Amino acid sequence: MTDTMRAAVVPEPGAEFELVEREVPDPGPGEVRVAVEACGICRSDEFVVEGSYPGVSYPRVPGHEIAGTVEAVGDDVDAWEPGERVGAGWHGGHCFACEACRRGQFLQCENAEITGLSFDGGYAEYATVPAEALAAIPDDLDAVDAAPLLCAGITTYNALRNSDARAGDLVAVVGIGGLGHLGVQYAHAAGYETVAVSRSPDKEPLARDLGADHFVNAAEEEPAERLRELGGASVVLTTAPASDAVESVVGGLGTDGSVIVTGIPGEPVSVDAQQLVGTRGAVEGWGSGHARDSQDTLEFSALRDITPEIETYALDDVADAYDRMVENKARFRVVLEP
Ligand SMILES: [Zn+2]
Ligand SMILES: [Zn+2]
Repeated sequence: MTDTMRAAVVPEPGAEFELVEREVPDPGPGEVRVAVEACGICRSDEFVVEGSYPGVSYPRVPGHEIAGTVEAVGDDVDAWEPGERVGAGWHGGHCFACEACRRGQFLQCENAEITGLSFDGGYAEYATVPAEALAAIPDDLDAVDAAPLLCAGITTYNALRNSDARAGDLVAVVGIGGLGHLGVQYAHAAGYETVAVSRSPDKEPLARDLGADHFVNAAEEEPAERLRELGGASVVLTTAPASDAVESVVGGLGTDGSVIVTGIPGEPVSVDAQQLVGTRGAVEGWGSGHARDSQDTLEFSALRDITPEIETYALDDVADAYDRMVENKARFRVVLEP
């Protein structure tokens, strides 16, 4: 192999991407070097580009939807071998020692690392990742498809499977974009009566193709009313990062239903408590999962043939690719192929 690699770095908060030639990183103890085949661009990469996340040091290589192949392992790594296909998502490792880790709550680790924020991520030909942050990629899943599943996929899959919804229950997905188009597929595959809610009526054919049993055009009708007509939702998964998208569905919950927020609105959400009391309903949040959750997501996606709709770009085109995602023009996830 060569000693240098290409990487897209954010030199400082707010600066443009720079394509640089760097030394290929050596894996330290407990780390694995991954040859990156694909890395998804996620809205959360804005934290790095804009400097809005505390504690990130610069220059930094973003990217927390890494899919590739193990190329080298550091000392004390028994779980992985060169040649194995692996992925890494948002959760970039944990300490195994804090209170949360002692309870197996690795995502809540007090010393948790975040891929592409705490350490350099996948907008590069190689990345070193803590061994405990890696998931195996099934043979029949392409790297470019696996990458977005490691953030957009796991977030929706894990939120749904940890909910109280059971097969046959009414489950709605609000927003048919990067997260939502996967959420609809998981909801359908899980056996829920699946409702797609979108302000874009042109997304109805796609939503139905992906498995939606009902489509609610939120630009013209009240989602809460439709959900009540359908019997009330056990779960409403909101992926659109807008407070009104959350507020518009609280009244559509059935008894003991939950609105699960995954797309984070940039402003507070107002909830009518009367509606929650009446249904014993809840508004809660969910974010991603740990590496085994990632692997479960990939395995279930391969089993049920669930893939993201993607646009792929070379590393050279990182700035354009990033803009596609930020400006909400991509259909639906953007993936770099370093
Ligand atoms: Zn993400
Ligand atoms: Zn910990």
